Amino acid sequence: MNRRLSMLVAVLAAIFCTPPFARAWGCKGHQTVALIAEKHLTPEARQFVEKLLGENPIDPKLKRWCGNATPDVMVDASTWPDDVRNERRNGPWHYIDIPRGKHKGSLEEYCGADGCVTRAIEEQRIILKDKSADPLKRAEAIRYLIHFVGDMHQPLHAINNGDNGGNCVPVKYLHHEPLPNPQHPEREDYSPNLHQIWDTEIVERDMEVSNPHRYADELDEKFRAQSASWVAADIHVENWAWEVHELAEAEVYDAFSARIPVEPDVKPKGCSDNNHIGKRMFEKHLVADEAYQTRAAKAAETGLAKAGVRLAMILNDAAKTHP
Ligand SMILES: [Zn+2]
Repeated sequence: MNRRLSMLVAVLAAIFCTPPFARAWGCKGHQTVALIAEKHLTPEARQFVEKLLGENPIDPKLKRWCGNATPDVMVDASTWPDDVRNERRNGPWHYIDIPRGKHKGSLEEYCGADGCVTRAIEEQRIILKDKSADPLKRAEAIRYLIHFVGDMHQPLHAINNGDNGGNCVPVKYLHHEPLPNPQHPEREDYSPNLHQIWDTEIVERDMEVSNPHRYADELDEKFRAQSASWVAADIHVENWAWEVHELAEAEVYDAFSARIPVEPDVKPKGCSDNNHIGKRMFEKHLVADEAYQTRAAKAAETGLAKAGVRLAMILNDAAKTHP
């Protein structure tokens, strides 16, 4: 292949080889959450976590999307649930579809038969605290918790507007126009889309020349004063989900100059469902410009910092030696 052609192939591969309904912070976001949490662990919890993870390692044959070059077991753990997502069939554990326009109440009705992120967090906490449980299951519980507490603080993991958590909302991001999948334009799934920029692009642009280690240091410093109040509010997973849901309304959907109406409460299988949600949203020509990026980065930074502190609270609680 000539160079221009191979470059084009590489660019298209980068755009379309990400799973169509990616539902997670990107690698660097999850790693940042783990690194912030490490700063807030009690010595007892650090030892507890390192022992369980160290003695029950991840299968070395597993293909790791984010690479496996890190010696830090919590950083390594942070992206594992996405790697086993298909074989374990636990995709719905990564988010909760609270319909846009809802403001309070029990989350149980939004957590389907296949589960959701708030229930998964509570279930994994129970396994982790059970001293008689299989150590491998307890190590996996730590890995799930590191990942899911991160995921639930990505605003589009706690809201749905008939658009697959924003996966069916094409947006122009900075100077990148949304393009349909060239092989399957009839599917109406575009890139960039709203979910994708919140998973990865907004955070990674905000990171600039930094890396997850430096970024975690910076965010921990920046939010140090506020983090005391997060700790004082104690562990209330449902409250956290509502808080993220409200943030998604204000900072994700309402932050566009074009209005995005509240859609019917449906979960389309693809973006051509819900009366062509993908095409209808494309026609709104939504633009996430520099102003949107600046505002979104602020919300994303707060989410990552809160996730790190709250994850440490959960691990510290689980590590407490009960008499
Ligand atoms: Zn995830």
